[in-house]
Amino acid sequence: MSEHKSLQALFGGTFDPIHYGHLQPAEALAKLAGLQKITLMPNNVPPHRPQPEASAAQRIKMVELAIAGNPLFNIDLREMQRDTPSYTFETLEALRAERGKQQPLAFIIGQDSLLTLHKWHRWQELLTLCHLLVCKRPGYDSKLETPELQRWLEEHQADTAEILHRQTAGRIFMADTPLVSISATEIRERRHRGDACEDLLPAAVLAYIDDQGLYRNADPRGILRR
Ligand code: ATP
Repeated sequence: MSEHKSLQALFGGTFDPIHYGHLQPAEALAKLAGLQKITLMPNNVPPHRPQPEASAAQRIKMVELAIAGNPLFNIDLREMQRDTPSYTFETLEALRAERGKQQPLAFIIGQDSLLTLHKWHRWQELLTLCHLLVCKRPGYDSKLETPELQRWLEEHQADTAEILHRQTAGRIFMADTPLVSISATEIRERRHRGDACEDLLPAAVLAYIDDQGLYRNADPRGILRR
């Protein structure tokens, strides 16, 4: 039995590194959707993507530094604690089993992730476990790839945030969050070129990146460092 039933929102990502493109839309989303807490969940071996440049420990540390003193956020390390691919479906299934059927759950993604959601493991079943909260992201189509996918989206779309609290899963909330044109790829590339990144991520995270010499060498996949 869970002791509290307020909508619980998870925000998964590689966070290589975490940046304002994660933090600013998430903060705006919290206001729009009435979220008390957002749980950042760094993933371990993302199945659809190349391996991160920073180590797991470094990515965790960067998330911790980014959210220090901000009561909206906390961190969940469950995906980091396994050495197999972290499928969102399985993580949410475990969380649902822990929290019980009455707990409203939500998973936060950016528009780019929504566009590739149909390639995720057991994607159609995700809505049996949670709501999806979608943040805008500049440069990505607002419509899904096929009319069928677009229809699926419209059928599940939440008209208001209120329903996210009343139902435990099953809705897609397209949040009117600010457009933040930042990606971790851009930050890594800027670092490799020796360009400034001050406006793109919290100062404490940047100081840590400097201290660790992260994203600095001309060896983006870290082969020479092994
Ligand atoms: P990379 O450039 O390495 O692919 P990323 O910047 O997209 O990384 P991730 O950690 O892969 O960051 O993203 C985690 C989640 O955050 C995804 O759901 C993604 O859609 C979302 N996200 C990342 N950047 C933004 C942004 N600028 N605006 C809105 N959502 C974002």
